[in-house]
Amino acid sequence: MVIVMKPEATEEQLRQVIAKIEELGYKPHVIYGATRNVIGAVGDERGKFILQSLEVLDGVEAVIPILKPYKLASKEVKKEKTIINVGDISIGGSDLIIIAGPCAVENQEQIVKTAMTVKSLGAHILRGGAYKPRTSPYAFQGLGEEGLKLLKKASEISKMPVVTEVINPEHVDLVCEYVDILQIGTRNAQNFELLKRVGQADKPVILKRGMSMTIKEWLMSAEYILSEGNMNVILCERGIRTFETSTRNTLDLSAIVVLKEETHLPVIVDPSHATGYAKYVLPMALAAVAAGADGLMIEVHPNPEKAFSDGPQSLNFDAFGKLTEKIKKLTEIIKEC
Ligand code: PEP
Ligand code: MN
Repeated sequence: MVIVMKPEATEEQLRQVIAKIEELGYKPHVIYGATRNVIGAVGDERGKFILQSLEVLDGVEAVIPILKPYKLASKEVKKEKTIINVGDISIGGSDLIIIAGPCAVENQEQIVKTAMTVKSLGAHILRGGAYKPRTSPYAFQGLGEEGLKLLKKASEISKMPVVTEVINPEHVDLVCEYVDILQIGTRNAQNFELLKRVGQADKPVILKRGMSMTIKEWLMSAEYILSEGNMNVILCERGIRTFETSTRNTLDLSAIVVLKEETHLPVIVDPSHATGYAKYVLPMALAAVAAGADGLMIEVHPNPEKAFSDGPQSLNFDAFGKLTEKIKKLTEIIKEC
């Protein structure tokens, strides 16, 4: 249910409504708006109509059922776009955000050089995997905590925030010590215990789309994070499994426009994992931006042929420079449209 407060409702009245929601066994999530505040009350669906009784409380304008199954992610509860601030970078605001870096952190020289170069070429956030969820148990699994330390170093030297994937609920606190944004990868997009755990963390979360997930299931996974109190979720379309084998996955660009209808959360696109080939990354990045993405996540490696993972889809510095130049031109055109 969403409890809409009157524009003139006082802080005290808001507090009383929150207390009553808790008393009834539901979890209140306050969304502070420009003109009025609303409270999303979530919990057991079966008895939710008991919340209708809040309508008589002072300061309450209306109590409305949220019809979508993803309550806190839906626009029913929050119409304005969510803007997530990381340092002085805003994700979901008017500027396109570019996240770039290698699939995996390999050594200090690789990550620091990549950080410095992608920043000079226009990236805003550094990426790099320390824990790699690989299809094969014999493939490189990441440097673990050593990788986190290197990421932090690269982030400090380049003065860029950093994102890395977390694959285990037990690692969440450790990963939070080193990075600014957590990533949930496609293979863990329905790992509900992990989702709940990152929902308790105080870092924004990039939630990649599960490779066989519908948009509705994806938003339900986001809901797991939001319902634990972490409202800073960024959705990342990274391609889905289809019958097509010419590309690693099939980039579902229509997901961007559907999500913009359904949710207030920022939406970014990863054309690297979506296509699997470096040569397809630029055109699909442009297409994603044209379709309304709030940001891009691009794999970049100083020497893709030697990369420990995802070399074929990684851009070298030259190709990344060309991409950011074209993206810049496109965003200028879009702003004039
Ligand atoms: C990654 O970002 O390196 C990654 C493993 O992505 P995905 O989960 O989308 O495959
Ligand atoms: Mn990768």
